[in-house]
Amino acid sequence: MRLTPVSTLSLLSLAVGLSFASTAQAAKPPAPDLSNAEFQQCLDGLKNSSKFRGVDSSTFNNYRPSQPDPSVIQSLNYQPEFQKDVWDYLSSLVDKERVEDGIRAKRQWADTLRQIESRYGVKAEHVLGVWGVESNFGQTLGKKPLFESLATLSCFDRRQSYFQGEYANALKIVQNGDIAPSDMTGSWAGAFGQTQFMPSTFLELAVDFDGDGRRDLVNSVPDALASTANFLDKRGYRTGEPWGYEVKLPSGFWAASDRKNKKSISHWRNQGITLANGSPLPNDLSSAGLLLPAGKDGPAFLVGKNFDTFYSYNASENYALAIAHLSDLITKEDSSKTDFVTAWPTDDPGISRQQAKDIQQALLNAGYDIGGVDGIIGDNTRIAIQQYQSSHGILPADGRAGQKFYRAIIGDAGNTAPKSTQYGNQYGQPSNSQPLNPASADRMGQLIQQQTSTPNTYSTQPSAQSPTSGNTRYRRVIGSDGVVKLVRVDEGS
Ligand code: CA
Repeated sequence: MRLTPVSTLSLLSLAVGLSFASTAQAAKPPAPDLSNAEFQQCLDGLKNSSKFRGVDSSTFNNYRPSQPDPSVIQSLNYQPEFQKDVWDYLSSLVDKERVEDGIRAKRQWADTLRQIESRYGVKAEHVLGVWGVESNFGQTLGKKPLFESLATLSCFDRRQSYFQGEYANALKIVQNGDIAPSDMTGSWAGAFGQTQFMPSTFLELAVDFDGDGRRDLVNSVPDALASTANFLDKRGYRTGEPWGYEVKLPSGFWAASDRKNKKSISHWRNQGITLANGSPLPNDLSSAGLLLPAGKDGPAFLVGKNFDTFYSYNASENYALAIAHLSDLITKEDSSKTDFVTAWPTDDPGISRQQAKDIQQALLNAGYDIGGVDGIIGDNTRIAIQQYQSSHGILPADGRAGQKFYRAIIGDAGNTAPKSTQYGNQYGQPSNSQPLNPASADRMGQLIQQQTSTPNTYSTQPSAQSPTSGNTRYRRVIGSDGVVKLVRVDEGS
């Protein structure tokens, strides 16, 4: 869950699949200089304001930040130069890894999920879909200290009034004893825990499901899953209904994407719409709207009320579609194919998080300073990609990590030049790489296999002497942190 009104604009532009290229150099602006005197004066005022009624003075003082955190104001005003295409967004959120994690979670928490389903009427896989997209099944909770973030946002820049309410609510949560103060960390905007609730949503909808008397959405999976189900239920979830389905439009059909314009299933059937596999639309949705995330030539969906409850979690149709799609794949317990039946209207589809990690490792190997390998294509990685594209004559040099760039850099990695050459050649000699065949899930592994018999062996140290022996072999090792490394295997070992 993120901020609704502010983030809606940027998310809406995601929804229409806008792509702004060629501005990869424009990274985040510097953090503003915030006056601590002004901050402390503001906090003095807040402490006695009506919004903080119900927050004890000792609670306020105990968690009062000694200084503001300018990075959250930077995040508040940051409009990413890159708007992801819908296929990039979906392929990183719904990949093989996340489906497998979801299937595991479903087995591990089967009893709890069954109890939640009978209490709230929300299908287990729908709860799992939200959990997987929100916090990667509890693995990614956000690390920013909440009181510092919310106090800073309460005192500077726009939307202070909104954040003052959230700041007061966050203090009430620790005052009530629900969450340990040390666990109050989250996103820059104050969403926290396995459900990524804002404090106001927590106070309204969090539930204690494991019966220990605390609503602990950070450490208790039963509390987190039940709170998610309670959220969906309170937003109008219809028990027993699917979220919707992928459909096939008849040729020549034209209509705008309009999820909210709900019609009966017989209406859509009369329009000639079928399920994506061609079979007739079932009768299990009371009404549905048409969702075309990439226009009429891409995947098409009919979505019902339950899709709208996913949407209400984060006010983005692409976000809701990620939850919907992930929940379907977890239901089928099949991670082998994460695409929709109809392909996205692009010749350069998106990459998985594993492929993003492979790209980042290849950039590091090529001498680009992108920090670490985390599978998230952020500003640093985009800038490095753009530089790599420029210096290798890969057009367009737009900084985007799609399947084409994945093939280019993984195919090129065996011929990686030292760093000085990379940066010294901005005008782009044509690449001497031979792009390989279409990517598969484990393209790098195949590449290494192919290269074990050639002199141009993939090297972990690009500026080091390249091994010239045709017998040098490498194997791909994935560390516990998910980092892909190529380890030399000496002959005979
Ligand atoms: Ca509890």
